[in-house]
Amino acid sequence: MNRLSNADQQEIAKFDRVSRMWWDTAGPMRMLHVINPLRSAFILGQIDLPRPKILDVGCGGGILAEALARSGASLTAIDLSQPTLEAARGHAAAHGLEIDYRYMSVEQLAQEAEGRFDAVTCMEMLEHVPEPRAVIAACARVLKPGGRAIFSTIDRSLKAFLFAILAGEYLLRLLPRGTHQYRKLIRPRELREWGQASGLEFTAIASLLYNPLTKRFRVAPGKEDVNYMACFIKRR
Ligand code: SAH
Repeated sequence: MNRLSNADQQEIAKFDRVSRMWWDTAGPMRMLHVINPLRSAFILGQIDLPRPKILDVGCGGGILAEALARSGASLTAIDLSQPTLEAARGHAAAHGLEIDYRYMSVEQLAQEAEGRFDAVTCMEMLEHVPEPRAVIAACARVLKPGGRAIFSTIDRSLKAFLFAILAGEYLLRLLPRGTHQYRKLIRPRELREWGQASGLEFTAIASLLYNPLTKRFRVAPGKEDVNYMACFIKRR
């Protein structure tokens, strides 16, 4: 498996270009900072181990990985944007956090780390790869039996087009233009089917709902909406 075989170079180049801005809470990644406490709490609520071994796939600058590491988890985090990984390593070192950042795809890691992790997180990443199914299958492989996989992405629906793309990128400008392409968005049913096909049992879904008046998000457990997170358990 070639490291880059399931990566979209134009997508990676977009992240390369913003690599110095991952930790600017007013910059292009600001929405990830805003939702981070909510998604970290959701993820940690799915894992009932004191010091879980977690793999974060498509970790970006480490916004989520750092929060999980601070909670006591042991973190390996992978990405295919080199400058992004440099920013992540620099930030973790400056904050005294030990996170094992690696330049590799999860398909590649699965060849050497089968059954190694208690949990895998793959947030806001599946909608940027050519074959999300292959990423899900590799995430399943690196999990121990009974381990948890948590994915987040954006639904492919009219509402998602209006809210995430039209409003999010053009009207409210919460995200940089061109962040998301409609055809690459993923329906919750598709995600569940792909998980099932990879030996993952679906356990929970929740959505992040944005209120443009208060400019706040909240987590709606059980709800399938535009921005959703889904949790699976690897069959024993
Ligand atoms: N998960 C992080 C960052 C999301 S942005 C967060 O939610 O805070 C998407 C990230 O996925 C970018 O850093 C990009 O470089 C990475 N990425 C895109 N395709 C990838 C692939 N095939 N393998 C690994 N990382 C990838």
